[in-house]
Amino acid sequence: MNTELIEQLARWIADARSAVAFTGAGISTESGIPDFRSPGGVWSRFAPIQYDEFVSSREARARYWKIRLTLYQEFAAAQPNAGHLALADLECAGRLRGVITQNIDGLHQLAGSRNVIELHGTARRVACIGCGAESTPESVHARIEAGDEAPDCHRCGSPLKSATISFGQMMPPNEMQKASQWSRKADVFLAIGSSLVVEPAASLPRIAKSHGAKLVIINQTDTPIYYAADLILREPIGETLSALMSRINQPSNFGS
Ligand code: ZN
Repeated sequence: MNTELIEQLARWIADARSAVAFTGAGISTESGIPDFRSPGGVWSRFAPIQYDEFVSSREARARYWKIRLTLYQEFAAAQPNAGHLALADLECAGRLRGVITQNIDGLHQLAGSRNVIELHGTARRVACIGCGAESTPESVHARIEAGDEAPDCHRCGSPLKSATISFGQMMPPNEMQKASQWSRKADVFLAIGSSLVVEPAASLPRIAKSHGAKLVIINQTDTPIYYAADLILREPIGETLSALMSRINQPSNFGS
């Protein structure tokens, strides 16, 4: 652990008016959730289903739900790790505006984070694509197990879908707008566990940086925007964020 860099980061966060965290799959792999894009991840095992295909084909929806069941089993039992907990503590201490996440596992909220922008939706809810009525994944799984391979909404008859953003589906405009706004206003932007390659992950750190934020990258794997970072920690995420939190909690040095 590079204590000098942790010290530096703790100072920036103590001085920040608006620190924002952006998280990707890397923060949840420490909870045992595989990165769905990585080898062994869900999209290396199943062909992705495009949104248009989902809407137009009942067979595609049946395939979709089969994949969702597998995915759900992978993360339903997962618990927040030290990284999620440290971010929740930072927010609770008034040091973090909130978390923008690419993850659909809901672990930030389970850890106690309140201000969470879920750019890719959440796998912890199901929504009707017609009327928007929400239900639990468990209720849909029960209908599938009872023989309905592609359950429709009880209210309006439209297909039910996990409340996540599918391939070929538009990013949620409200969340995107809020995420851009947080990024523009941030004075410290922590990019954690994301390769920052896919949009909007690629653009949010750039927006923050171009509006004067210090860009901090905490990730063990490479990212193409390292060159733009003010501070890089290539360390395990949980350990790093815990160390940061304990440094911030030490009463000495930092005026609060
Ligand atoms: Zn409906």
